[in-house]
Amino acid sequence: MKKENIPVIQLKPGKESSLRRSHPWVFSGAIASVNQMPQAGEWVKVVDAQGRFLGAGHYHEGSIAVRILTFKDVDIDLDFWINQLTIAWQSRISLHLNQKEKNTIFRWIHGEGDGLPGLIMDVYDTTVVIQPHTLGMYNEAEIIAKAIEVVAPELDTIYLKPSEKQMEANAQYLKGEKTQAVALEHGLKYNIDWEKGQKTGFFIDQRENRRLLGEMSTNKKVLNTFCYSGGFSLTALQGGASHVDSLDSSQHALDLTLQNVALNGFDESKHAVIKADAVEYIKTVGNDYDIIVLDPPAFAKHLSAKHKAVQGYRKINEAAIKKIKPGGLIFTFSCSQAVDKETFKGAIVAAAIDAGRRVKILHQLHQPADHPISLFHPEGEYLKGLVLEVI
Ligand code: SAH
Repeated sequence: MKKENIPVIQLKPGKESSLRRSHPWVFSGAIASVNQMPQAGEWVKVVDAQGRFLGAGHYHEGSIAVRILTFKDVDIDLDFWINQLTIAWQSRISLHLNQKEKNTIFRWIHGEGDGLPGLIMDVYDTTVVIQPHTLGMYNEAEIIAKAIEVVAPELDTIYLKPSEKQMEANAQYLKGEKTQAVALEHGLKYNIDWEKGQKTGFFIDQRENRRLLGEMSTNKKVLNTFCYSGGFSLTALQGGASHVDSLDSSQHALDLTLQNVALNGFDESKHAVIKADAVEYIKTVGNDYDIIVLDPPAFAKHLSAKHKAVQGYRKINEAAIKKIKPGGLIFTFSCSQAVDKETFKGAIVAAAIDAGRRVKILHQLHQPADHPISLFHPEGEYLKGLVLEVI
């Protein structure tokens, strides 16, 4: 992309300050004029009220009108992509996330956190899944695939899995083809189905929190609610849990969990699956669980749903606090970006008051280093969790 011929968006006076701080979003209300109307997904150049260059990025209709990919006045060519992917790849290597015998599941590109708004890229052993969240990023898929060939030629499969409804049908292999995919986290084997699975096939963001659960699970009876493919269940079994129950409302998720338990050769008499609604089920259990994991899907995808989401967190945590064995632990999470850390903690306080038990925070948890947060884009902080001890 040569920036000479692309539409130019001029901002209203004073609206350039967030871009000068490297925040990558231009809201539609900040725009004063455009010299030619851009198409959805098209590259645009953004200038201030005096016509000075601020950045270039993808244009879309909606409240975020432009997502900036470069604050430098450079051409966006193969070298640009190679450079961006190399920076992020080296970061993951130095975090020891790509270790053949131990860990082969990691996030290579985390949107704004890696300076590439709208792009997620996850690695599963020798496969990389590209997940564009915008049409603009979807349009870049081929050049991104070329850059992957240069930066990590050892990856033999590239799967493009767009997340936007209108692009979903265009999911396809850009290199290689479907293979049986077993990848590793903490030395545990997981069968990853990137084609039909949720997200890119696995919830990579819970890696470090799973490790902590494993360390605390020895001889404990664990209930893992919202288990999906069983990540927390497997680390609990690895850590020596006496018994693990994995609960999900989806049979497909429970089948994945059973497959993964079998794949690792765990004693199947120590594990059971339960198909149920998490809140309703917890209300019915006795008080013999030592540990309960609560990892619900994002209750609030948008700010407008925040109040309802907070009520949802309060309700489920109250049920778990009431039922956990005295001295037991609750690993409770929220991945709703619209619900911040303090608001989430507030919902837990309300739950503890209603449950009428004394509760301590042992650990405050968050997203791992391969889901980085740009200092200039605090909205990128989304995963928060608490380890509660209930007296
Ligand atoms: N903890 C998982 C990820 C959870 S994803 C991991 O570590 O991989 C959220 C899961 O919640 C999905 O599998 C979904 O099927 C399940 N789910 C959604 N609503 C539910 C409900 N009301 N009760 C139980 N499970 C539910």
